[in-house]
Amino acid sequence: MNHPKLNQATSKLFKAFSSQRFPSAVVNQTIREVKSQKKNQKAKTFQKRWCCFNNQNLKIVKKGDFYTVSFPTLEKRIGVPVVTRPYQEAWLNRLLDGTAKQGAAKLYKKRKKWYLAISITFEVKPRHETKVMGVDVGLRYIAVASVGTKSRFFKGNRCAFVRRRYAALRRRLGQAKKLQMIRKIGRKESRWMKDQNHKISRQIVNFALANGVGVIRMEELTGIRKRATSAKEAGRSLHAWAFHQLQTMIAYKAEMAGIRVEWVNPTYTSQACKCGHREKGNRHGIHFQCKKCGYTIHADLNGAINIAKAISGFAV
Ligand SMILES: [Zn+2]
Repeated sequence: MNHPKLNQATSKLFKAFSSQRFPSAVVNQTIREVKSQKKNQKAKTFQKRWCCFNNQNLKIVKKGDFYTVSFPTLEKRIGVPVVTRPYQEAWLNRLLDGTAKQGAAKLYKKRKKWYLAISITFEVKPRHETKVMGVDVGLRYIAVASVGTKSRFFKGNRCAFVRRRYAALRRRLGQAKKLQMIRKIGRKESRWMKDQNHKISRQIVNFALANGVGVIRMEELTGIRKRATSAKEAGRSLHAWAFHQLQTMIAYKAEMAGIRVEWVNPTYTSQACKCGHREKGNRHGIHFQCKKCGYTIHADLNGAINIAKAISGFAV
């Protein structure tokens, strides 16, 4: 709800517009949420808003292996069992044992399913480790990590295969100008890719933790947008946003583990040799061979090493 006199919004006003029956505490939290989002909105239109809870309204309870959330309605307090994934259970456990603090929560419906989003705050202790790890994202290997003399290749073959399959399908549909259908396929692929990126980013951060890494460096990739406006653009930006998503996930998982994240300038990372010589011809696909000193290495690993060294400096 976006009322012209929103700043004067009260729970009385809210009730006039809402068919839902909630106690004033829930209504007030929802109004606070709407007010905080108002700054970015220009249109004075009515919008659907989901109901919000603060940490006093919403209670999380664990019974056996299952979690239940309860919130108040005008009639009574209702408890709802929730479906959880293992990583979500880890966070719920931290809320229950007090190592993380529960913030505001939002109950919402998306594609016929109800979700509860809970914000949480917790302390992160910076790590004292000083090793720097470089992570290069790419098509042949979704990511290559390098720290000191250790490295690991994270296979992206299957990811690339699925992306290609969707890209081909999208091209065919594109010729028929069925953008809507393209977007639908895009969403399905998005969910699949997101899941993959979650797994790979977790593996990368675990690799960093196992090797005493205090800093992760990645390339600052620009010109990335998630939603394409045409079929042609959808194909082109497809890889770009998948990489961007992976980098974002690595960054926040790293920061949550107390690892600092630094962004480096991507220029020349794939062309530079450890001897200092750089030219485009040093790289042929997956092979890197220096034209000057003859040094050979897997091109993606060379990229990761150069990112760790930040050879082109840091991104602004
Ligand atoms: Zn060289």
